[in-house]
Amino acid sequence: MTEVIVLVERRDGTVRRATLELLTLAARLGEPVALVCGPTDDATTAVLGQHGARKVYVADALADDPYLTPKVDVLVAAVAAVQPAAVLVTAGAEGTEVAARAAVRLDSGIITDAVDVVAGESGPLVTQSVFSGSWSAQSQVVRGTPIVAVRPNSVTIEQAPVEPVVQVLEVPASAGVPGVRVTRREAKVSTGRPDLADATAVVAGGRGMGSPEGFGLVGQLADALGGAVGASRAATDLTWCARDVQIGQTGKTVAPQLYIACGISGAIQHRAGMQGSRTIVAVNKDPKAPIFAIADFGVVGDVQVVLPALLKEIETRRA
Ligand code: FAD
Repeated sequence: MTEVIVLVERRDGTVRRATLELLTLAARLGEPVALVCGPTDDATTAVLGQHGARKVYVADALADDPYLTPKVDVLVAAVAAVQPAAVLVTAGAEGTEVAARAAVRLDSGIITDAVDVVAGESGPLVTQSVFSGSWSAQSQVVRGTPIVAVRPNSVTIEQAPVEPVVQVLEVPASAGVPGVRVTRREAKVSTGRPDLADATAVVAGGRGMGSPEGFGLVGQLADALGGAVGASRAATDLTWCARDVQIGQTGKTVAPQLYIACGISGAIQHRAGMQGSRTIVAVNKDPKAPIFAIADFGVVGDVQVVLPALLKEIETRRA
């Protein structure tokens, strides 16, 4: 069976959930193999094997390269060596940039922001959610090695334990002159909550939370559910939360298992970033709020009453 390369992303040394989702998708298309840029360890190999990676290609020679493009060199070298049926990367700042640069170098087609990938007769069939999520489009790469950037939380992770073979990948030095040099990296101060892109539960607040203090309830509910905090643009404009948690057309796109929208009207620009969520719960005092049109469960009520009651109920059931 032809191999399908999954570009591994790690955060704080841990393989991202999004990478494990890609391994699940890769198994639909061929033989999943993982590509690790930089030094690896037994824990990384074990988790990749647990999720179906038959091989783990490791390229650690360029780990300390000061330029932004070493992963592109690694991916291009891997495609040349393996001749895969497809390459899957995580759609995000890094994955999409690496994929785009690799596609140019390989003269291959690329599809970004995919929400599903299945095997087709002549290559992977890729689904994208377009026009603020109001349409689904299915496309296929028709030139070169299909490179697909898949949004996190698009697929349920399946375990498929195998014992992976670890293989060192030789990467020739890049022929091109790097245009960008990384001069400093600084880890973001952790909130202790899961990353918005990886979280299985997201609690998002909007203008209806009323005040910065009122918005605090969003964080409390997120913590009770082990989830991440999100927000509408109105809430971020009001500086009730950090700008980087804005969800929507000009913010982040999330698709968690559970999305709780609190005091959010559900403008189309907000829905564009969350309507792929598995289960949507909305709390809003206006029964005509557009968010209810896409909610699986709706509570018509005041967030300052409903959220404390919900927190109390969670606490009681956990006791
Ligand atoms: P509002 O629309 O003011 O809604 C507040 C809601 O809270 C109302 O439905 C109200 O009934 C309810 N409410 C009030 N008080 C309570 C209470 N006590 N209890 C329960 N419910 C209550 N928006 C985004 O979110 N993300 C984007 O990325 C984004 N990009 C945009 C890009 C462009 C080009 C433009 C033009 C707009 C964009 N917007 C975006 C803005 C978007 O159009 C909306 O203005 C915004 O989403 C509204 O935020 P909101 O729902 O929090 O506020």
